[in-house]
Amino acid sequence: MPNGIKLVLFDMDNVLCDYDRGKRVACLAQLAGSTSAFVHKAIWETGFELLGDSGALDASDYLRGFGYQGAASREGWQRSVAEMSIGAGLKEGLTEPGQWTMGITGFGELLPYHENRIMLDKEKKDKWGLPVLSMDAEIKDNEKKMRKDMVSEAVEMLEAAGLKNVHSWDRGHPVGDGIHEMGAARMGRDAKTSVLNGHNQVWDAPNVFVTDGASMTSSACQNPSLTYMALTARAADFAVSELKKGNI
Ligand SMILES: Cc1cc2nc3c(=O)[nH]c(=O)nc-3n(C[C@H](O)[C@H](O)[C@H](O)COP(=O)(O)OP(=O)(O)OC[C@H]3O[C@@H](n4cnc5c(N)ncnc54)[C@H](O)[C@@H]3O)c2cc1C
Repeated sequence: MPNGIKLVLFDMDNVLCDYDRGKRVACLAQLAGSTSAFVHKAIWETGFELLGDSGALDASDYLRGFGYQGAASREGWQRSVAEMSIGAGLKEGLTEPGQWTMGITGFGELLPYHENRIMLDKEKKDKWGLPVLSMDAEIKDNEKKMRKDMVSEAVEMLEAAGLKNVHSWDRGHPVGDGIHEMGAARMGRDAKTSVLNGHNQVWDAPNVFVTDGASMTSSACQNPSLTYMALTARAADFAVSELKKGNI
């Protein structure tokens, strides 16, 4: 090996971060022209989650569900790009942060349709001569109906929290846009209907473990990475014990 592995040291002090929830709630209250107590109640005490968990919110015209991710922030200097001002007035105007705004984005589950698939491209090769990945996938009626609901619930929630000038839009969804793409080598109990067993081990090649997002059977709507890490830790533990037993 011409360049051996080098020792890399990380400074692990003072790198753990947290955020101040109280401060964020106070900012939201300022944005909504209300109080921290009002915003806290609007977000954490609506009963929305409880209704969802109890099944009372189940929508009749589509399957599965969605969640939201978002943030509140103040406008930066870019707000002045469209302004027709110049010179000292412009500079002065930019010394203070701009208005508070808040945005939320819906993350919904895509059902695992059999015909949504990836394959190796028979013609196109990468610079190493290996076939590139080709993807053939789309969202269908269920996801389209869910998207409508996501938009209207988002507006309702933000307005209930006291926000003004709430705008909504749906700019469509090319699969992959949600950056949580997963599946295609699903885990299962039966080798006839799945690629991996419950330990992320390939049914037909026991010395191969696939521990990434490919093992997922459906997408859910939560961030997936911690689940991949947990699955990987479990698979690695299993692989070590199988190795020690001489099974792989
Ligand atoms: C901008 C962004 C923000 C995100 N934020 C979050 C978040 O906040 N929370 C969350 O849970 N998830 C988040 N995700 C999603 C998360 O990063 C992915 O779901 C996760 O990393 C997928 O893990 P994976 O192991 O399946 O694939 P990857 O992490 O993509 O790993 C695949 C690996 O395979 C390598 N590879 C590819 N082709 C080859 C080849 N031919 N030969 C050898 N190696 C190859 C790649 O280089 C890569 O290292 C985010 C994703 C993006 C893009």
